[in-house]
Amino acid sequence: MHKRTIFSKIDTREGKNVKIYPLPHMYVVKDLVPDMNNFYKQYKSIQPWLQRKDDAHNQKSELLQSVADREKLDGLYECILCACCSTSCPSYWWNGDKYLGPAVLMQAYRWIIDSRDEATEKRLDKMRDPFSAFRCHTIMNCTRTCPKSLNPGRAIAEIKKMLGGAAKKEEPHLKAGAV
Ligand code: SF4
Ligand code: SF4
Repeated sequence: MHKRTIFSKIDTREGKNVKIYPLPHMYVVKDLVPDMNNFYKQYKSIQPWLQRKDDAHNQKSELLQSVADREKLDGLYECILCACCSTSCPSYWWNGDKYLGPAVLMQAYRWIIDSRDEATEKRLDKMRDPFSAFRCHTIMNCTRTCPKSLNPGRAIAEIKKMLGGAAKKEEPHLKAGAV
């Protein structure tokens, strides 16, 4: 997807005060600890693991992936699920119970676009409602906030294109097979 430098946004210049506060718009359990239960529940809901139609075959053989197909995961797999993007998103503030938010949507896209995964339609079907993905209004706070310089806003745009039929997952360059 892209290659950008990972950097710290903490200003280390002398005399600068650094304010540390819990993730915004979250219930605080204590001190800097927010309640992440809803965020993790949403992450679980997208089934963040490789799914194949034939699991028995899956266990016995290596799933091949071309270099070009592997590169499609760049900019997605590096996410550390810090939730900075989701908690900076106004749509997530208002509809966090039904809108999946940028972090979880980017991980959904990470599995949708994986050439080895065969649950693409099932994954997309789960998001065919007015809230799961379409509550994103391209405000792009998420992308500006990410401490790893990832681009969840772009991943969401790709999901929306697939949901709207404007884009389709490419066929894998290499078929899975025993080696
Ligand atoms: S682009 Fe979408 S997910 Fe990102 S901050 Fe805006 S509304 Fe939220
Ligand atoms: S801010 Fe970046 S690293 Fe953190 S959850 Fe969002 S996409 Fe992942």
